Amino acid sequence: MRLTGWGRTAPATSEVVRVSSEAQLAELLSAPLAPRGLGRSYGDAAQLAGGRVGDLTGLGGISEVDADGLVTAGAGVSLDALVRATLPAGWFLPVTPGTRQVTLGGALAADVHGKNHHRDGTLGAHVTRLRLVSPTGVHELTPADGERFWVHLGAMGLTGVLTEVTLRLLRVTSDRVLVDTERFSDLDGVMAAMVEGDHRYRYSVAWVDCAARGGRGRAVLTRGDHAEGADLGSASLEPPRPALLAVPVTAPPGLLSGATVAAFNELWFRRAPRHRVGEVQRLGTFFHPLDGLRDWNRLYGPRGFVQYQFAVPDAAAETVRVAVARLAVSRVPSFLAVLKRFGPADPAPLSFPQPGWTLALDLPVGPPGLPALLDGLDGLVTEAGGRVYLAKDARLAPASARAMYPRLGEFARLAADFDPAHRLTSDLDRRLRLREG
Ligand SMILES: Cc1cc2nc3c(=O)[nH]c(=O)nc-3n(C[C@H](O)[C@H](O)[C@H](O)COP(=O)(O)OP(=O)(O)OC[C@H]3O[C@@H](n4cnc5c(N)ncnc54)[C@H](O)[C@@H]3O)c2cc1C
Repeated sequence: MRLTGWGRTAPATSEVVRVSSEAQLAELLSAPLAPRGLGRSYGDAAQLAGGRVGDLTGLGGISEVDADGLVTAGAGVSLDALVRATLPAGWFLPVTPGTRQVTLGGALAADVHGKNHHRDGTLGAHVTRLRLVSPTGVHELTPADGERFWVHLGAMGLTGVLTEVTLRLLRVTSDRVLVDTERFSDLDGVMAAMVEGDHRYRYSVAWVDCAARGGRGRAVLTRGDHAEGADLGSASLEPPRPALLAVPVTAPPGLLSGATVAAFNELWFRRAPRHRVGEVQRLGTFFHPLDGLRDWNRLYGPRGFVQYQFAVPDAAAETVRVAVARLAVSRVPSFLAVLKRFGPADPAPLSFPQPGWTLALDLPVGPPGLPALLDGLDGLVTEAGGRVYLAKDARLAPASARAMYPRLGEFARLAADFDPAHRLTSDLDRRLRLREG
């Protein structure tokens, strides 16, 4: 099968084997294998050119949620399925990425974050038990196992195949979020507001228009908390609806030109309220607006797109401003960028979040200036003591990865206990050689 990540760049032809049991996995691991969930990582993390890919979406099963909010699920279960099964009983994901169309295994392999990292950390921080199959056997681990547990979170599938996970869910009393929205005419304003006030909200995210003239990066900040059913006068706990619309075909090249993107960003900015407090939004609208349109990645045309997401420490906030300013003059169109604050890092050696800022840019492949722009940003981010998110990456050089992830040596040492011969691999791993220390 021809496989790509969500960005639809860097295709690979792989033999795809649908996995249905741990015994089958143990057999498959006698040869190189790349684990794959729902293929929502953007780059080449869930494929293996000329090799074998294990499709893990068949590892299903969801238990009842116990009184403490603990649920056990197969690693192939999607976050969408988990929400459908548990929200009606008043439980929600403690951390959710911007789409529900990811598997639990894929989400933990990337140690995903949501709009509440400043408060609740990564999804991995809410796992109480995981089970995985690696070439050295079947392993059950809990946070009490320390580094032997944490090494698997953010490991991008290179330590073993997660098969089952126990997770602590969040108690909610409604399917709504109370949202405050504020519009800012520049990046400095929104960044100051986030530093000053994010701690008052569980969730916070800013959408930045990088195409704004002069690289000043105007923005819309949305922050919210779960609404209490009692306050709303309704205790509706209805899971988000499936997408009704889909992009039927790949768009022609150049559909998302600078002009279309600028027009879209303009319209979107003007539609946002200058200041609105306490708007009641559905969970799906607030957390996963893109899930309303299936296959939206086709809009980027046959060449696909890159998502460039980096994190930098607070002391290097200037990097965010410089990145937005460089983008504005680069002639590379960029849809709304996503700006978030990160809180303390978890102990996982390859976990992406570090305290400070993260900015994610969606950039179509095609403009001649794109490779140089991104190479320049790699340098800027490295100098700032920051890093690029591997789950979004398709192009980083091994030396940059080494500089951005200083704990690669520790990762390699811990991973060797589970996969000494590097049977678990992927195109991302071959490109970045993450276990060479
Ligand atoms: C629209 C959109 C919004 C997103 N928003 C966010 C966000 O807000 N925050 C965030 O952190 N991420 C975000 N992501 C990224 C996404 O959450 C991650 O890439 C996630 O890993 C995708 O899960 P998947 O099941 O599709 O995994 P895949 O893309 O199939 O695989 C991802 C990685 O996990 C490994 N893997 C998959 N299953 C297993 C398993 N069972 N055991 C071991 N390894 C496994 C693969 O080898 C690969 O390295 C977003 C992605 C999209 C498309």
